[in-house]
Formats: sequence, C-alpha cells, structure tokens
Amino acid sequence: MDKVRRVDLRTYGISVVSVLVATVLTISVEPLFQGKAPLSFFTAAVILSAMFGLGPGLLATGLSLVCAVLFFNTIFMLVLSHSSLGAFVVIGIGISVVMGRLQRANAALRRSREALQEANRQLSERERLLSRSNEELQRFAYALAHDLTTPVRSIHALTDLLIQRNADGLDESSKECARLILDKARRMQAMIKGLLDYAAAGESPDEKIHSHAGAAVQKALEDLDSMVVANNAEVAAGPLPVVAVAEEQLVQVFSNLISNGIKYCHGGRRPSIQISAAEQNGAHVFSVKDNGIGLDMDYADSIFGVFKRLHGAEYEGSGIGLALCKAVVESHGGRIWVESEVGQGTTFYFTLPAAPSTVRRLAASVS
Ligand code: ADP
Repeated sequence: MDKVRRVDLRTYGISVVSVLVATVLTISVEPLFQGKAPLSFFTAAVILSAMFGLGPGLLATGLSLVCAVLFFNTIFMLVLSHSSLGAFVVIGIGISVVMGRLQRANAALRRSREALQEANRQLSERERLLSRSNEELQRFAYALAHDLTTPVRSIHALTDLLIQRNADGLDESSKECARLILDKARRMQAMIKGLLDYAAAGESPDEKIHSHAGAAVQKALEDLDSMVVANNAEVAAGPLPVVAVAEEQLVQVFSNLISNGIKYCHGGRRPSIQISAAEQNGAHVFSVKDNGIGLDMDYADSIFGVFKRLHGAEYEGSGIGLALCKAVVESHGGRIWVESEVGQGTTFYFTLPAAPSTVRRLAASVS
C-alpha cells in the first residue's frame, strides 16, 4: 500500500516539475514570438504527465492553465487569447483521459501477461513432476517384472523336472495338475516379457533413428511364421514408408496387430490381413485391417489399457499387446485407434512421424 502511495506521489511530482520546466522554457523562448507565449511546452508537459495516468494529466492541465494565466497574462503582460487557452484545456483533458485509459489497459495487459507466465510456469512444473513420476513408475514396473522372471522360470523348470522324475509314479490327475502349473507359469512368463517390453516402449525415442516399415512387417511375419502357416493366414502389405521409429519397436507393433488379426478370427474363415499407409499432414497413417470377429466399439478405448481383454480364455493372450502398441506410438507423438464391427472385422489405425526428408531420399535410392 505504502509503495503504491509513493508511486502516486512521484507521478504527481513529475506533473508539477514538468509544468514548471514548461513555464521556464516558454518564458525563455518568448522573445522569438514577439510577445506571444506558445503553448507547445505546456502541451508536452500534459502529455508527459498523462502517460502516468488520468490524475497527473489533469493536474498538469490545471497547473499549466494557472501558469499561463499568471505568468503570461499578468506578470509578463504577454498576449494569450482566451480561446486558445480554452482549446488547450479541452485538449489537455482529452489527452489525460485517453492516455489514462491506455495506461489502465496497459496495466491490465501486463497483469494478465504475468498471470499467464505464472500459469505456464506452474504447468511446466506439473509436467516435469508428472514425467518424473511416470519414469519412476516405469522403472518400478521394469524392476518388478525383471525380479519376477527368475522365480517364475524356476517354477517352470522345477515342475518340468518333477513330472519327468516321477513320470511313472504320478496318477493322471496329478499329471494334469502339473501340466496346468506349467501352462500357468508359461503364461506368467509371457506376461512378464510383455511388461518388460511395455516398460521399454515408453522410453524417450532417439530422434536420429528411423526404419523402413515394409522391412518391419517382413520381420514381424518371420517371427509369426508358425502362426501364419498354422492358420493358413493371408497377409498383404501395400507400399510402406520410412518412419522415425526404431525397427525393433515397429516390429513389435506390427507383430501384435497382425497376430491379433489372425488370433481373433472366425472359425471357418481364412484370416486375411491388409496393411497400408497414407501420408497426412507430414505424418504417416498406417492401417492394419482384418476380417475377424470384430469387437464392441463401446470398448474401443479400454482395449489399449494394460491387461485389458474383451475375449475370454478361448483366445490366448496377456492383454498387453495393444497397450505396448499404444506406448510405442504415443512415445513418438502419434495416435492409435480402432474401428470395428462385431462379426465383420477390425481395422487398427496409428500415426507415426515421417523420417527426415534426407533419410527418405537415401532409403528410396537404396531400395
Ligand atoms: P491380448 O490379445 O493378448 O488379449 P491385446 O492387448 O492385444 O491383448 O488386445 C486386447 C483385447 O482387444 C483382446 O483381448 C481382444 O479382446 C481385443 N482385440 C484386440 N485385437 C483384436 C482384433 N483384431 N479383433 C477383435 N478383438 C481384438
């Protein structure tokens, strides 16, 4: 409060001083004007004072009027017409009002800019905290999954050994139990591997890395060879671009989407999967379309969550595949979504950034 009052007093002080200076200057130039006092110095004093607000502007106008009447109409007996004095007062008040408003608008603008800067600062602080807790969570998931690997592998190996050593002594129901334990241990190993891949997928990408999506599809198909052959699946891919994503991660994305397309198929129908890409606003939109059982679009968002499954044990899976795809795509600034109709098939779409033009030119000349 005290500070505000000090600033006010200073601005009014500036008004008084500027009018006094204007008076002295007007007196000193008077001989050049043959007895007439110019009002330009007073006008300058009013403009200068009005820059500090309406009050200082009005004070300077009033003081200038008093000085003009006192010094140039009375003491120095100079000539100043009443009409020019009246015009000066009107102009002085006008300038004070306009400048006062401008100054208020300026102050409001400054305040909103400061508020915006503060909000921005808070937002980036929150973003920093969020990304730190995300990283911690990812490290925790990675460490947990990693620590679980050894005991699960041991359970699997020991159960296997137990069955082998007691092959003759175990009755059928004990053998069935042991087989179930083996099966569950295998499933748990798959889930842990999925979690480890998922944790790695969210890591910040290396901007220099790029890969050819066509080659990534080929590698995914090599990994899925036995599944493709066993289901007599048909997989066709159109021309695919070079993208700014590590090949290993791109293979994981295609591998999950293609294997889902084969897995969630109709009993008597040959699985058919079509992969294509189109350029849109500097990014590539990929699509992986199948002719399978489809899914209920009410769950179109939730299926991308970790361990989220729509179908039961009749379709094997860990519920991590799509979460992993989402983590890879989003860590590169892309988006993934699904369009489907139950019984008619499903199409997954995802966007990825294009590789820099120099890399694309190089890749085109090589292929
Ligand atoms: P998983 O296949 O291991 O269960 P995903 O994360 O890959 O896990 O998929 C999550 C769920 O989304 C699946 O359980 C399934 O219900 C549904 N889904 C995924 N892909 C398809 C598809 N191509 N057709 C129909 N449903 C699908």
